[in-house]
Amino acid sequence: MAASSDVEIAIVGAGVVGLATALRLAGEGHEILLIDPNEPGSGASFGNAGTIAEYACMPVGNPAVLRALPKLLLDADSPFALRWPALFQLAPWLVRFVRQSLPEATRANALALAGLLSHALLAWEEMVQEAGLRDLLRRNGCLYLYRRESDFAAAAGGRTLRAELGVHQEVLTQQEVAVLEPRLQEVEGRGLYFPDSMNVTDPSTVMRRLFDAAVARGATLARAEVTGLRTGAGSVELSGADFRVRAKTVVIAAGARSRALAAQAGDSIPLETERGYHLEFSTEAPLLNRPVCPVDLGFYMTPMTGRLRVAGTVELGGFAAPPNPRRLALLDRGVRQFFPNLGRHSSEWLGFRPSLPDSRPVIGRSRNSPQVIHAFGHGHLGLTLAPIKARLVAGLIGGSGDAASLAAFSADRFGA
Ligand SMILES: Cc1cc2nc3c(=O)[nH]c(=O)nc-3n(C[C@H](O)[C@H](O)[C@H](O)COP(=O)(O)OP(=O)(O)OC[C@H]3O[C@@H](n4cnc5c(N)ncnc54)[C@H](O)[C@@H]3O)c2cc1C
Repeated sequence: MAASSDVEIAIVGAGVVGLATALRLAGEGHEILLIDPNEPGSGASFGNAGTIAEYACMPVGNPAVLRALPKLLLDADSPFALRWPALFQLAPWLVRFVRQSLPEATRANALALAGLLSHALLAWEEMVQEAGLRDLLRRNGCLYLYRRESDFAAAAGGRTLRAELGVHQEVLTQQEVAVLEPRLQEVEGRGLYFPDSMNVTDPSTVMRRLFDAAVARGATLARAEVTGLRTGAGSVELSGADFRVRAKTVVIAAGARSRALAAQAGDSIPLETERGYHLEFSTEAPLLNRPVCPVDLGFYMTPMTGRLRVAGTVELGGFAAPPNPRRLALLDRGVRQFFPNLGRHSSEWLGFRPSLPDSRPVIGRSRNSPQVIHAFGHGHLGLTLAPIKARLVAGLIGGSGDAASLAAFSADRFGA
C-alpha cells in the first residue's frame, strides 16, 4: 500500500464479514480497499463448523444455560468453560451475559436474531451466485442429537420459541436418526432436525472465492494492521506502522479484535471472544450426510471435502493464552463416541469468535463518527449472517437502509 492514499470505502478486516461486504459494495460500483495483515479468511472464518444455521435464533445466553452455568464454568471439560486466570478481565462481560440470559432479555435477543436469520438463506443463495460457490454448498439440513432426556427437556423453551418464530424443526426418534445418518454409531435418545439449513464443505475455499470475486469487481487488498482510527470532517483516517489511508467511509469488520477500533470511533462496546476449537480427520468417503451436533458435547461434526471436521465448544479466556490441549482432547474423545474407528486427527485449530453478551451483532453507523460503520460481533453465526450483513451495510451506504430497523443491533444499546 502507498504510504498515504485516499479511497472511497475502507473495510478493516477480510474475514467472511469483510469479504462479503467487499463483494457486495464492489459489485455496486464502489471503490473498496480491504485492509488486513493476514491472509483473507484466515481468522475465525477459516475454522468454523460450516453451518448456515438459519434456525439458530436462540442466543448463547438463555435461561437453560444460566441454570447450568455454575456447573459448566466449574468443569474444565464442559462445553462452556472458563480459563480462570482471565476471570478479572472477563467479569464485566460475564455480568452482562448473566443479565442477558434472563427470560425477558433472551426473548428480545431471540426475536432480534430471528429477524436477521429469516433472510439468511436467501442472502446466501444470492452470494453463492455472485461468487460461484454452488459446488461448495449442501442443502441437507442439520441434526441436533439429544442423548439425555434431561437435555431435551431443558431445551423445551428453545423449541417453543423457534416454533413460534416459524423455524422448521422436526423431532426425530432414534430410528429416524439412524435412517438420516446410517454410519453414525447407534445413539440412544432423539434428534431435532432442521431441514432447511445448509452447510459449506470447505470454509477456506469459500473465503478464497469470495476474495477473488471481490477483486474481480475491483476491490483491492492492503496487507497491514490498522492501529489508528481518527474521524475528521467528511473522512476517516486509518493508520498503522507505515501507512495512512483517508476514506469517506470505514467499515469495521475486524472480528473479535474490533473493540479497540470501535473505541477510537467513540463507541464503548463490550466485545469479548469465545474461543472455539476444531479437529479434522481425513476420510475417504463422507461419514455424515449433514452437520450433526451432539448437544451435550457442544460441537458440530461436519462432513467437509475429504475430511470430517469436529468444531465448537466455548472457552472464555481472551486472546493471549495458548491453545488448551484439554479442549482438543475433549473434541477427540467426543467424536470417538460416534466414530470409534477414526484414526489420528490430521489438523487442529483454535479460533476467536467475536461475541457480545446478548448474542446480537453490532450493525450500524457509529453515533459519534457516522462515517464509521460497525460490522462485527457475530459470535457463533458469522458465516450464516455475513451476506445479510453485507446487504445491510450496503443499504446504509447507499441510503436505502432503514437505520430504525437496525436499532436492536446498534452500538448505543450498551450505553455510553
Ligand atoms: C469453532 C467455531 C465454529 C463456528 N461455527 C460456525 C458455524 O457453523 N456457522 C456460523 O455461522 N458461524 C460459525 N462460527 C462463527 C464464525 O466463524 C464467526 O462468527 C465469523 O467467522 C466471524 O467473521 P469475521 O469476519 O467477523 O471475523 P474473522 O473471520 O475473525 O476475520 C476478522 C479479520 O480481521 C482482521 N483484523 C483484526 N484486527 C485487525 C486490524 N487491527 N487491522 C486489520 N485487520 C484486522 C483479522 O486478521 C481477520 O482476518 C464458528 C466459530 C468458531 C470459533
